[in-house]
Amino acid sequence: MKVLKFGGTSVGSSENIKKIINIISSNGEEKQIIVVSAFAKVTNLLLEAAQLASIKKTAYASVVDEITSIHHQIIYKLLTDKAKNDALRFVNEKLTNLKSVLDSISLISELSPKSEANIVSHGELLSSFIITKALQENAIEATRKDTRELITTNTNYTNASVNFEISNKNIQKYFKSNEANVTVLPGFIASSEHKDTTVLGRGGSDYTAAIIAAALNADVLEIWTDVSGMFTANPSIVSQAMPIEQISYVEAMELSHFGAKVIYPPTIHPILKKEIPIKIKNTLKPEDQGTLIGKTSKGKKNPVKGISHIDNVTLITLEGSGMVGIPGFSKRLFETLAVEKINVKLITQASSEHSICIAIDDCNADLAKIAIDNAFEFEILKGRIKPLEVEKNLSIIAIVGDKMKSHQGISGKMFGTLGKNNVNIRAIAQGASERNISAVIAAKDVKKGINSLHESFFKNNNKQLNLFITGVGNVGAKLIEQIAQQHQFLLDNLNINIRIIGLSNSKKMVFDDEGIHLSSWKKQLKNGEKASLGGFLDQVKKLNLRNSVFVDITANADVASMYSKYLKNSTAVVACNKIASSANYKNYKELKELSREYNVPYLFETNVGAGLPIIDTLNNLITSGDQVVKIQAVLSGSLNFIFNNFKENTSFYTIVKQAQEEGYTEPDPRIDLSGVDVARKILILARESGLKINLEDIENNSFLTKNNNKAESVDDFFNSLKTDANHFNDLLKSANNNNCQLKYVAELSNGKAKVGLKEIPLGHPFYNLEGKDNIVMFYTKRYPEQPMIIKGAGAGADVTASGLFADIIKIANN
Ligand code: ADP
Ligand code: ASP
Ligand code: MG
Repeated sequence: MKVLKFGGTSVGSSENIKKIINIISSNGEEKQIIVVSAFAKVTNLLLEAAQLASIKKTAYASVVDEITSIHHQIIYKLLTDKAKNDALRFVNEKLTNLKSVLDSISLISELSPKSEANIVSHGELLSSFIITKALQENAIEATRKDTRELITTNTNYTNASVNFEISNKNIQKYFKSNEANVTVLPGFIASSEHKDTTVLGRGGSDYTAAIIAAALNADVLEIWTDVSGMFTANPSIVSQAMPIEQISYVEAMELSHFGAKVIYPPTIHPILKKEIPIKIKNTLKPEDQGTLIGKTSKGKKNPVKGISHIDNVTLITLEGSGMVGIPGFSKRLFETLAVEKINVKLITQASSEHSICIAIDDCNADLAKIAIDNAFEFEILKGRIKPLEVEKNLSIIAIVGDKMKSHQGISGKMFGTLGKNNVNIRAIAQGASERNISAVIAAKDVKKGINSLHESFFKNNNKQLNLFITGVGNVGAKLIEQIAQQHQFLLDNLNINIRIIGLSNSKKMVFDDEGIHLSSWKKQLKNGEKASLGGFLDQVKKLNLRNSVFVDITANADVASMYSKYLKNSTAVVACNKIASSANYKNYKELKELSREYNVPYLFETNVGAGLPIIDTLNNLITSGDQVVKIQAVLSGSLNFIFNNFKENTSFYTIVKQAQEEGYTEPDPRIDLSGVDVARKILILARESGLKINLEDIENNSFLTKNNNKAESVDDFFNSLKTDANHFNDLLKSANNNNCQLKYVAELSNGKAKVGLKEIPLGHPFYNLEGKDNIVMFYTKRYPEQPMIIKGAGAGADVTASGLFADIIKIANN
């Protein structure tokens, strides 16, 4: 014998009810008990009508009309002839009765729990009648029994406790003599010993089915709902959640207690002793396997089975030195809560006994405050404890799994993951069973928290990376192009899902929390809102997405000044902008420290040598215990281009002009030719090697003339290059006479850095450096004679974009 329960959404429409009929038919001659919920939305509407009536709002009448219409529509589509008329008559009679109950509530403006239970029971009474008629019309021999005659409860009308002794007897007696193959029962409803209607709490139809299944020792209890099983997390919050194939009773109970609504928490209880298997199945996709809840958990090695959460939580904290070492405080606290019928969801107390922290429902917060402050009035007056602290709008998230207890590091991973994503934890609880670790967090962080935990505990999940990019010039556009091109590859091969959520240039900014369409980003940005640095940061904070990364592809000092704010928000920063890392040392140090403190990367590989892995290599050398002795490098693609093309029969002026026109220098070539740009780069390498130095500490041996340095505009500068042509010709001549090439070299040795033009002899690794290439030679303790050399294109939009991309991927793999 089977017990099948069909939830509200399964009975939400005539199409779905037809699916149910097929499911029941497919079970053939097997005896079946069908427990049904109210049609979708009906329970909520009934409660709404009751509330409205109790405050004399006449709108309750139109809510009743809506309820009538839901039932009529289903009857007209589902039933014909006599069955239709019987059903219409039944529904109209019950709803007329309901209307008069509501009228009298409105008259006295009072809604007792007893009346509320009576009103809300109408949903299941009506749905079970209509479904029985539909089964009969489809040649299924079905009978209906009013569950109020089977399940007896106490008089806690709206959330009644079952008297199992009486109920089990009633159920067994009825089914002993009931010959029908299929019996339909309204879920959720029951009655008190005095035969008044009671209900079993929201979601209680699952419980009804479990009570019946346990009383009759059913072979199986099937819970048919709108999802294909119990998922690793609520599928409407975590798109990557997966159905769990098999889960233990205790795990399922923990998950449901912590908010997995797919099963009403008390449901497992009556089933547990009898070890009746529970299957969670999808009415809309009956072919899907669903979840088996049984004695043992099975499957993958993952010790974490699922993640769930409860909303609308308040944390109350009783604190004071007067509590330390004095027995009886907690007893009084919990007794006070018990007297007020306030349910406790989580408790923590540190061993110092200085405070007790308790999570309760938001709706009980005010009552708890009054009751506890009253109960401890004397101690508060004497200053032994503080008045109760109440913090609303919180949520509890919990990870659950039987096997968690035999694994170390799970709580570390849980809190590490939440911390990395800037989810502040207000309280923590882990039961001695170690089957559940719960944390109280702000309600606004729930989606981010659960999704990041899911990514971190369920390995085949894609890791979502949410980018906020500022600066969409040449390099920015290339980066977006590369991301678009690699998106699928990263998803398929590295399980990384990169999305661009925000884009900004100096004029406009645009956001899409589902990810900006990369084929039309230009148009979207053009139609975006007015850009502002603060506004961009505010959006990053407001969207509050996990694994957020701020990408700076500008050369703007104001943008660079925002990094600390992003890091403090646990948003990673990837910068190709050199300003922050090469500005004063204090600023650089602060950013590095923030990155460590908030456990969030600050990466700027492209600051030196564009896409070449120079900073990364240097970091790897140092973290593995090596020490930098000397660095020699050619770090300016622009200067390398200029000196590679400056030959005997050309003028220096022409080459610089050409370099400028072809985009190899900054629009103002003085930035390159003065050596400042190279000085900034060696400064960054020096700092990454552990030196505390500033730009002024770097010796800059300019090859320019006084005249060049005096120029007040770019035009003046070019003119001065023409005027001083001989100076440059002499530099070239000397190099040629010495069989050397001119290279602009940056050096770091003995804690000192310098930059300047050098004659490089034949055979030196710099001699043949072509085009815009960069080269770096690291002499270290481990590479004393033969340096470690990194060489390749050191400028250009493509390679710079790929360097940024590499930093971004590094964050994904972090
Ligand atoms: P029914 O009306 O069938 O009783 P419910 O709405 O009570 O259905 O429960 C099913 C819903 O529970 C799903 O649609 C889903 O949104 C929610 N849910 C929350 N957590 C989970 C979970 N871990 N697995 C599956 N569903 C969950
Ligand atoms: N109809 C009731 C509710 O919505 C019971 C149930 O569906 O389980 O809470
Ligand atoms: Mg339910």
